[in-house]
Parts: sequence; structure tokens; C-alpha cells
Amino acid sequence: MSSEQQDQQPVKTICPYCGVGCGIQIAQDDEGEVSFRPWGDAPVNDGSICIKGGAATQSVNHEDRLTDPLIRDDDGELREASWDEAYDMIVENMERIREDHSAQGVGFYGCSKAMNEENYLIQKLARRYGTNSVDTCTRMCHSSTVYALKNSLGEGAMTNSMADLEEAADVFWIQGANPGEQHPIANSQYFRQAVLEGATVIQVDPHANKTTRSFKIDETDRHMHLQLEPGTDIPLLNIVIKTILEKHEENPDEGWIDEEFIEERTEGFEHLKETLEDFDKEAAAEEAGVPLEDIELAAEKYAMANNAAIFTGMGMSQHTCGVDNVQNEINLALITGNLGRPGTGVNPLRGQNNVQGASDVGAMPNVLPGYRDVSDPEVRADVEEVWDFEIPSEPGLTNVEVSHEIGDTIHGLYIMGENPVMSEPDTNRVEERLEELDFMVVQDIYKTETAEYADVILPATSWAERDGTVVNTDRRTQRMRGVDKVHPNTKDDLEILCDVGNRLFGDGSFDFDGPEEVFEELRQVAPIFHGMTYDRLGEEGIHWPCYEPGDEGDDYLYGDGFTTESGLGQIEGVRHQPPKETPDEEYPLILTTGRIIEHYNTGTMSRRSETLNRVEPENFVDVHPNDADRYGIEDGDYVTLKSRRGEIEVEARVTEDTKEGTVWTTPHFADAAGNRLTNDVLDERAKIPEYKAAAVEIEVSVTT
Ligand code: SF4
Repeated sequence: MSSEQQDQQPVKTICPYCGVGCGIQIAQDDEGEVSFRPWGDAPVNDGSICIKGGAATQSVNHEDRLTDPLIRDDDGELREASWDEAYDMIVENMERIREDHSAQGVGFYGCSKAMNEENYLIQKLARRYGTNSVDTCTRMCHSSTVYALKNSLGEGAMTNSMADLEEAADVFWIQGANPGEQHPIANSQYFRQAVLEGATVIQVDPHANKTTRSFKIDETDRHMHLQLEPGTDIPLLNIVIKTILEKHEENPDEGWIDEEFIEERTEGFEHLKETLEDFDKEAAAEEAGVPLEDIELAAEKYAMANNAAIFTGMGMSQHTCGVDNVQNEINLALITGNLGRPGTGVNPLRGQNNVQGASDVGAMPNVLPGYRDVSDPEVRADVEEVWDFEIPSEPGLTNVEVSHEIGDTIHGLYIMGENPVMSEPDTNRVEERLEELDFMVVQDIYKTETAEYADVILPATSWAERDGTVVNTDRRTQRMRGVDKVHPNTKDDLEILCDVGNRLFGDGSFDFDGPEEVFEELRQVAPIFHGMTYDRLGEEGIHWPCYEPGDEGDDYLYGDGFTTESGLGQIEGVRHQPPKETPDEEYPLILTTGRIIEHYNTGTMSRRSETLNRVEPENFVDVHPNDADRYGIEDGDYVTLKSRRGEIEVEARVTEDTKEGTVWTTPHFADAAGNRLTNDVLDERAKIPEYKAAAVEIEVSVTT
């Protein structure tokens, strides 16, 4: 129980939805009902809140909450059970799978909505069990971004902070991100403010959205929206880079590139120039579907800014060329010297409230806490000294690879709070594979679409009933604080993992008396958190890296050099790789997916909010007016969208927000899930699926 909850005073915590990390307060009445209160001087948002944050407590009080453990009987039905029965079943089956196959037979899913301490424990549980196959849904959103940033700059995270960007940036280059919907307070509080003070926005996105409309607030025409064809980000950025290089050749004194920065702080510039030698800008502009002169003008605005900041989102990362997409953004920033000072950088806008932290604490198959390479014997020895058990040396499988291996090398899943049936691409195949599992545990707050396939379901407390820490999109580590349990027989994920760990191993490696003790161990093994304590985090939080107890943390990275092996930023030219599936006669349209402000990812929480459901109760598809004419679709008709993998029926919205030939839908709704259509091909290096491009056909099913 938190000390703050005495007398049922509101407690200060962090919104459970997006990675902005807004501070909110929650209060609990005598009946246990939890309600929202503003936190007026919260460090990130100063009391502002978006529709999701204001409605967040509705998911806590919802009647669908799991209240007791459930286990699947021999007759195949789920029934209520005691915690002991449920734990016994878990231990028996996990031991059996390890004996019959090996520890590699089980995959572990951490959770980007759970806290650092809980994700730290699930990765420790996996490694103590004997496998590095632990991952979270960061794999599905920004694993390619993390890969490119880590390899080319040194850290897999936002280079700058929202505050320094607002104060110092003259140009915001927003590519494949939609902060107007996905990071509403960052958009309204930071970006909008900067625009009002003169900053220019260049948005690169196939879909017009709330971001497009929000930066028109100052009624000038200095902002641009480059509405490109899905999957043509590399050609577009190559035009930008080639334009900057050509202009520099013509006018070397105008400062198109930063020669000193390139010379002293980077390597690979020659490779970039060679890659672009034969690059045809006219042909690329045609492929991208954007006038060449518009792209050249955008290039000029970026290159001529005193400080230009790139924001990158899932429109860039969720492609089979996701790593190269982000690498090209890094190339642009490096050749113009837009890194290592306020108002610059390459800044991924992270999705869930702790998707950054879940990776930071090691819930990834290739790294231990603090992004330390699991295949490095020195790193393992260092961590083993604290953990006191041997860590497997082979990197594990990512979550999509685990899913693909079900029925082959994977026989069991341990899932904390994630919902792969909704979040993974090609949902119909995911469901078929889950049927083949020997054993699955799910710990969650509701019986999710995934939990329907589980053998054991453990009822967890919600975000509002626990203490711990989370890391927001700009690396700010903040404390969350909880009220009393709403349902007495639920347990915190942290307590569940300790119980399971103690029963499975009985060696004291999971003896923790609450989240602060777990955080203390995390500090010992992850240098980026080493200087933090719960006391020091207080109400403001601290941006990592914070190596020593006196460190204030860093608002922006790389002021003194990059943290790559050579200390230099890595430039690497990249070439266009079209999406794996492109339109043809049978499937003539390209489908791309995105999220909307009212709902959140797989919708487990947002679909249980009365307020959010009232505004957007069901899925829809945006169709361009010319395509609507071609297929006889009226606004409001119900249409069937079909891909090679499945079909859904959704309402058609006829709008010029989408480009001709492209349709756009969301992944949020279980009864018409966009992921029944998406393609599960992966980026080779980061293993992120290509959610942003699949070939589909459309036909009217019900007319209005
Ligand atoms: Fe929550 Fe994000 Fe909205 Fe802030 S912007 S209230 S963190 S959903």
C-alpha cells in the first residue's frame, strides 16, 4: 500500500496510455471506485490532459476486470481456481516443457504498459528459466528505430527532450508520426507552442490527419505536408539529401551541410555520396507521388534552419526496410550537423507509457538491462555476479519469431499484459498457431482476445493500483503510485512474477519486498539507471542516462560525442526497397494502418472506456473519393476489405485525407481488426513486421 493513499487523498501517478508520460492524480472513494483528478504542476504536462488520459480510470473500474485466477480443466473449460492451484499448474507445465524439449521451448512476453520493475522481473524470469526469448511489443512499433539509433549514434532512444525541442528548434521534420493523435499533449503543449513562436513544420505522411490540421494554426503557408505514397520514404529522403549535397556543391559557403561536423564527428559520408551518385531525383519524386520542387523546398527549409529536429514514428519503423528508413533520417541529421545540441536530433515518438522502459530494463532477446549485449561474456559475468545464476549466451527469439515457431520449437508462452492476437500481423494465423500450444499463461486485467487461448489466467491489478517507475518518450524516468486494490484477490504483476520465480527456482533470486527493492537491483546491473533512486526521482523524474548518484540526467544526448564503438556517428547510404506486397489486379489497393486519438493499440483498455467508445465505437476505413467512385462506395457504406490473409467489414469514410489508391484503417477493434489483413513479413535485422503496406481489394457489403 502506498503511503500517499491514507485518508484516500489523491495520489500522483502517470497516465497509462501514451509515451508522453503526462502526470495525473487518481482518487479512490469508500466503495473502491477510482477517479481522475488533474495534477496541476505535473512536470511533463502542467495539468493538461487529452481525452484518453482523462478517461483512463474508466478501465480500472470496468466490470470486465478479472477478479480470480482461472485454469483450464481437462474438459477444456476455464474455471475459477485458487492462486496455489494456478501456480502449481504453471510450475508443473513449465518444468515439463523444459524437460521434454528445452528452456528454448518457452517464449516470454513482457509488457510495454507494465512498469520497469515488472519488465525487469520477467526478463530475469526468462533468463533464470534458461532462455533469452523475452520481448515486448516495442518489437512491433520501434525495434527498427532502436536498432538504427543504437548502431549509428549509440543509444536506442530519443536524442533530445520535448522541452529543449520546443525552446530551440526552428524546423520540425515529422515523418511517419502523428503526434496530433498519438501524442496529443506533446503536440498541443510543445509543438504547437513552438509553431506559434515561429517554428516550421514539415510533415511527411501518406495520410492527412490531426497533425496536418494542427500545424495550420498560425495561418501561414510556411508549413508543408508531403503526402507520399506508402513505402517511399527512402526515395523521398534521398531526394532531400541529394538536393542538399548538390546545393552545397554549387554554394559551398551557404551552410547546406556542416563540413566540420561531418569531418570530426562522423564516418561513412563517402558511402552516402556514392549511393546517391546515380540516383534519379525526378524518377524518385514520381515514385513517391510528390512534386520534386516541393521536396526540394522542404530540403532547403531543413538545411537552412539553425536547429532542425526530426520526429520519427511507426510510419517509418513498420516496414521491411524500417532500419534503413530511420538510418536515412540519421544521415540527414548527421550531414547537416543537427545532433548533439538542443532543438535538434532524431526523435522517435514512443507509443505506450513504458515502451521505452521495457526495452531499457532488458525485456529484449539480445540485450540485458541497460542495452548490454547478452552475447558478450564480460557483460554476462558482470550481471551474473548480481543475479547469481548463469545467463544463457545465445540471443533469443523476438516475439514475432516466437509466434512463428509455435508448433515447431515453441511449446509454451508466458504472457504478461500483452495481446498478440490483436497486435501481431496476420491475426488469423496467430489464432491458429495459439491452438497448437502445449501451455500458455496470461497475466492481465481482462480476459483479452489472447487470454481466451490460455491454460492459466492470472488476475493482475491495474496501473492505478501499483507503485513503480516508467520511462517516457524522452527518457524521463518517473514514479507511478497506486491506490488500494479494487479487487481483493488480484495481485500486482511484480508479486505474481516473484511468486512464480520463487516456486520455480526456490533460490532466492525472486525474493523482493516491493518495487523499490527491484529498482535497487536494476540500478546495479544497468548503468544508465545507476544514479537514480526512488527518492531522487521524486515528482520530477530524471532523464537517463544517469550514471552516478549526483548526475542530473541528460536532456539531450551526444553533446560530447556519440556512444558508438568509434565514438563517431555512422552515416550509411540506403537504397529504395518497395514494400513486400504491392497492388496487382487481384488486390489493387494498398492498405496502410494507423491509430486514432480515442483508442489505443489493441484497445483492451480504451474499448472499455465509455467516453472513448462513445466518440469512436467501431472501426472504419478511409477511402479516397476517386476510389469511392470507382468501386461505387458512398460515405457511410459498409465495405469488405480483403487481403491474401483475411477480411474485415468496416464503415467507409470517403475523404481526401488518404491518397488515391491507398486505403487506411486502424488496429484497435476486435470485431474488425485491421491486423487480420496485414502482412507478417519482417525487417531482416530488427524483425519488425510490415504493418504499413499490404495489398487489398474493397467491395461494398451494405449500402446506406
Ligand atoms: Fe496520456 Fe498521452 Fe494523453 Fe498525456 S498525451 S494524457 S500521456 S494519452
